[in-house]
Amino acid sequence: MYPQNSKTEKIWRLIDILNWGKKYFKEKSFDNPRIEIESLLQHIIGCKKIDLYLQFEKTVTPEDLIILRGLIKRRVNREPTQYIIGSSEFYGRKFFVNQDVLIPRPETEKLIDVSIDILSKKENPIILDVGTGSGCIGITIALEIPFCSVIAIDISNSALSTAKNNADMYGLKNIQFINLDILCQDINHTADMLISNPPYISQEEIPGLMSDVKDFEPMVALTDNSDGLEFYRKFSNIIPQVVKKNGVTILEVGRGDHPERVKEIFSKAGYDNLESVRDLNKDTRVLVINNS
Ligand code: GLN
Repeated sequence: MYPQNSKTEKIWRLIDILNWGKKYFKEKSFDNPRIEIESLLQHIIGCKKIDLYLQFEKTVTPEDLIILRGLIKRRVNREPTQYIIGSSEFYGRKFFVNQDVLIPRPETEKLIDVSIDILSKKENPIILDVGTGSGCIGITIALEIPFCSVIAIDISNSALSTAKNNADMYGLKNIQFINLDILCQDINHTADMLISNPPYISQEEIPGLMSDVKDFEPMVALTDNSDGLEFYRKFSNIIPQVVKKNGVTILEVGRGDHPERVKEIFSKAGYDNLESVRDLNKDTRVLVINNS
C-alpha cells in the first residue's frame, strides 16, 4: 500500500515511510532503495537527510503524503530523482535541472579540478564551455575563478535558459550564453581554455543504456548519433583558431577504449602535448591538450 491517509486514518511517521519505502523500492529492483526514499522524503519535508532520522517520530501531513505518492510513482517509472526534485549537486553546489539538460555527473568534477589548477595561474582568462547544458562546468569555473570570463555555448535554447537560471541563482556577471551548434557553425571567439563534456556515447551504445538515462535525459546531450568521436574531431580542427597560444583544451572522455581513440584523433592531427588525467579507479576521464 502506498503511504496515504485512508479512512482508517493511519498515521505515517517519517520512520514508517522510510521503512516502507526501503522495502518498496527494493521490491521494484532499485540498487539503493534507502537512498531513493530518503531523497524524495527529504525533498517533500524540506530538510537534511540526517533530520529525517533525528525527527523520525514526526508525522507527515495528508497533503504531503499525496505529493510523495506522486513522486514515488515517477521514480518507479525510472525518472531520475534529480528531474523529479528539479535539482542536482555539482562541485558542492545546487543546480536546477530538467529534462532539457543532462544531469551533472560526479566524474565531470574532475574537469573542474584540472581547470582551476591551470586557471588560477592565468591573468583574466577567457574560458569557452562547449555544450554547457545545465551550465554546471562554466558556472562552477566562473564562481571558483571570479576574475575570469566564461563564454558558455549550447545548441539547445531550452538548455541555455536553464543554465541562465542557474547563473542568476548565483548572481554571476562573468558568464555569457550563446546559442551555437559547434559542429556546423563558426565560433567567433578566442579563449585561453576550451572545456567540454561533449555528447560522447556512440549511437550503438544507446539501446544498452539504463532506462533512467535513455528514456529521460536529452539525446542531444548524450550522443553524437555517430561513433562518439564527432565532437573531438571538430575540436581538433578548431583549436588552432579558437584556443590562444599557450592555451589549453580540457575534455571529458568516456570508458573502455574511448580515451585511447580520442587521443589518437589529436595525435594524428599533430598535437603532441597531450596529458591524460585518471580518476580514483585509474581510468582516464580527462584529456588535456596543451597548445605549444
Ligand atoms: N556541460 C554539461 C555537463 O557536463 C552538459 C554536457 C552535455 O550536455 N553533454 O553536465
